[in-house]
Amino acid sequence: MHQLKAIQGDITQVHVDAIVNAANTTLLGGGGVDGAIHRAAGPGLYAACLQFHGCPTGEARITHGFRLPAKYVIHTPGPIWHGGNNGEDKLLANSYRNSLQLAEENDCHTVAFPSISTGVYAFPLARAAHIAITTIRDFLKTSQVVAEVEMVCFDPTTYAAYQREIKEE
Ligand code: ADP
Repeated sequence: MHQLKAIQGDITQVHVDAIVNAANTTLLGGGGVDGAIHRAAGPGLYAACLQFHGCPTGEARITHGFRLPAKYVIHTPGPIWHGGNNGEDKLLANSYRNSLQLAEENDCHTVAFPSISTGVYAFPLARAAHIAITTIRDFLKTSQVVAEVEMVCFDPTTYAAYQREIKEE
């Protein structure tokens, strides 16, 4: 049974096979969820990320979870919002799809996402939630490996947006 749900919480605390990090293109840490994940995982995560020499927007890279309860961290830089006519929608869908693809290749059954790009990167929340949920749903239809995906929302407004999108689909 494929399952998709939204919860409110802190992604560094969830027990899943892989959590996704809303990274930046350096993959060397930053603010928001990225900073929280690096703090919780410990210095091993930074050392592991150095080997990639960055990552283009919409692509994804995988490391171990180090001190996190999650086995793996999948790092993806989402798009920075520049008004919506610069490929932002497609790049955001790519971040979700490429992260799920890496999860599948690494035999992850359970995956948790933060709300990619809707913090400092300023992607409009409802639009981002629609793209996230449709992309995840499409992937789950055909995946033989990934069975459960959680959207881990840090604040009530974000949680409400993903809940609404999951119900409306
Ligand atoms: P971006 O640069 O991709 O916009 P941010 O980290 O600024 O990334 O924000 C993405 C989302 O992650 C926001 O909704 C923010 O509130 C949320 N967030 C921040 N810390 C955490 C956390 N520990 N767990 C889950 N989500 C978090």
